[in-house]
Amino acid sequence: TRQPDLGPRRSVAFIGSECYPFVKTGGLGDVMSALPKSLAKLNIDVKVIIPRYKCIPQKFQEKMEYRGSFDMNLCSDGKQYYVGIMEYQEDGVVYDFIDNDEFFSWGNPYTNLIDDIPKFCYFAKAALAALNYLNWTPDVVHCHDWQAALVPLYLRTCFQDTDVGRAISVLTIHNLKFQGIYDRKKIQYWSGLPDYVFNKDCMIQNWLDANMLKGGIAYSNKVTTVSNTYAWEIQTEEYGEGLAEHLRYHNNKILGIVNGIDTDIWNPATDKLLAADYDEKSAIKNKKINKKALQESLGLDVDEHKMVIGLISRLTNQKGLDLVNDVIPGIMDEHTQVVVLGTGDSQYENTFRYYENKYKGNFCAYIAYNENVAHNIYAGCDALLVPSRFEPCGLTQLIAMRYGAVPIVRETGGLKDTVQPYNMFENTGNGFTFDRYESGLLYDAINRAKTLYFENRKSWDDMVIRDMDKDVSWEKSAKQYKDMYVGLTPRD
Ligand code: ADP
Repeated sequence: TRQPDLGPRRSVAFIGSECYPFVKTGGLGDVMSALPKSLAKLNIDVKVIIPRYKCIPQKFQEKMEYRGSFDMNLCSDGKQYYVGIMEYQEDGVVYDFIDNDEFFSWGNPYTNLIDDIPKFCYFAKAALAALNYLNWTPDVVHCHDWQAALVPLYLRTCFQDTDVGRAISVLTIHNLKFQGIYDRKKIQYWSGLPDYVFNKDCMIQNWLDANMLKGGIAYSNKVTTVSNTYAWEIQTEEYGEGLAEHLRYHNNKILGIVNGIDTDIWNPATDKLLAADYDEKSAIKNKKINKKALQESLGLDVDEHKMVIGLISRLTNQKGLDLVNDVIPGIMDEHTQVVVLGTGDSQYENTFRYYENKYKGNFCAYIAYNENVAHNIYAGCDALLVPSRFEPCGLTQLIAMRYGAVPIVRETGGLKDTVQPYNMFENTGNGFTFDRYESGLLYDAINRAKTLYFENRKSWDDMVIRDMDKDVSWEKSAKQYKDMYVGLTPRD
């Protein structure tokens, strides 16, 4: 048999701060995990470099193998910093963990304190030094978010005349809200980067602060974001988080590629965590079993006829929770249940706890981060809310569709690109959408969903099946990333 043509081969080093299942606080962790696996299937040699955080579960720590270590200078303190490389391989992907207890022994990857400055200066520099140490010279260095945003600057300064300096750099922005803005003197000191990058078109934010992401954008060969709509939204003042002008200046190198999800992990037909597995054929029947199991386990009234609306989210201002708060009293009735899974700002946690108490038996506030419960909510709920203020891509609406939960989303960023609004005349679409950030519009969208659910179940069920059929895998997007790599690194 002939091998399928996988196209040209390239090598890519992914550098970022999270990668599921080792460490994840949000979508970045999912992408750093799933995209390399899909690229490996497309003839891309991938290496993923992340910090060896202490919070990485013991079962992975045990499987890591020591690949070597060396000392590195970081700034002008004259100190030598230890860089250990621990390696782990799976599914055609090599994971290298940068080991240094001084920086990575905190329980949480981020402290939001000035400690994050030396930590991520060290990480960016150590990742490149590790590639040289391992003699692994990639065609492309693909770095992610502000924690790795100094990589393109190091590449074109201290590492310019080394092997890794030949690589092209790509910076992916998973969330423009987080930029790594800290005291400029401290960043200048710790990074050891040359003075000339500390100017207003590169690293400088204002007279007090420097901005790591801003510098990374200036120095990388290509900037990508995780959806097309977000790629242009961030060039507007409304969504630009103070960098709109900088991004417009660099707009010829900006590209949007939408995220997918890992369809092995998120597969209702094989998901061991569910009360009942299901595919498109058994979904309508078996989702009811999952709904009852969910209601039971969360202490809700057990009734398969109620419409269960889920919300799985970090509880922060970004996620549109003010709108949710506004509409809850209006949407709660004896036929409707709401399940919230999330942690974050205490203001939102308390609001949802209040509603749980007020609507006993029909409202659940599960204030925690819990993957198992997440799987069961995706499977057991009828609809999932994602009314974000802004959303670079959003994964929960993709997982929801795969699990046959109809998304109700605001038309922004990746939500707009992935959820096609329901059209009652043609019986097309995947969910319910609204445009402006207004409670009244979310309220309308939820009511349109409820009306279809209670008054035209056949059309609702058709949409559930359409959602499950939708391609939300990484396959298409991984090809786009590959095309980009190949376009950036032409070979004979
Ligand atoms: P963000 O990266 O802004 O947090 P995304 O929608 O891109 O948002 O990714 C969120 C990911 O985190 C999804 O995989 C979602 O299932 C998961 N998630 C969010 N909150 C929780 C929680 N409380 N428990 C379990 N999983 C969660």
